[in-house]
Amino acid sequence: MSSIFTKIINKEIPSYKIAEDNNFYAFLDINPLAKGHTLVVPKTEIDYIFDINDDLLSDMMIFAKKVAKAIKQEIPCNRVGVLVIGDEVPHAHIHLIPFNNVKEMSILSPKLKLTTQEFKEIAEKISKQVKL
Ligand code: 5GP
Repeated sequence: MSSIFTKIINKEIPSYKIAEDNNFYAFLDINPLAKGHTLVVPKTEIDYIFDINDDLLSDMMIFAKKVAKAIKQEIPCNRVGVLVIGDEVPHAHIHLIPFNNVKEMSILSPKLKLTTQEFKEIAEKISKQVKL
């Protein structure tokens, strides 16, 4: 069975898209720790990030870097943090989380409740800044 992220990549499930190329898809996390919290996933469904081959994994980080730069341009933050967990969804992904205080990087922190309009506006402004 396809992972929820494969369904998102294939547009069977909607998402707030940030960027896409041949190998990767970036979209807003539905339960964000901060405005602009984005997930970067490979289009190939691989569960564990360190099972990804070296070339694809390198490209994934470079793709994530471009997305992180766009987030930093639009969301006021000290840095965009990088988190890899993979406890919930068995499809490798990188969390990109804009933060001011390191506490905001904890996956156990309370999640934001954003409206559809807020998600749309955030996705629109970040996606416009992505330069692949
Ligand atoms: P992890 O697998 O790294 O522990 O967490 C999975 C992340 O994916 C969580 O932050 C969760 O909010 C996010 N997530 C799970 N299902 C969906 C979904 O259907 N859409 C989106 N946009 N994010 C999701």
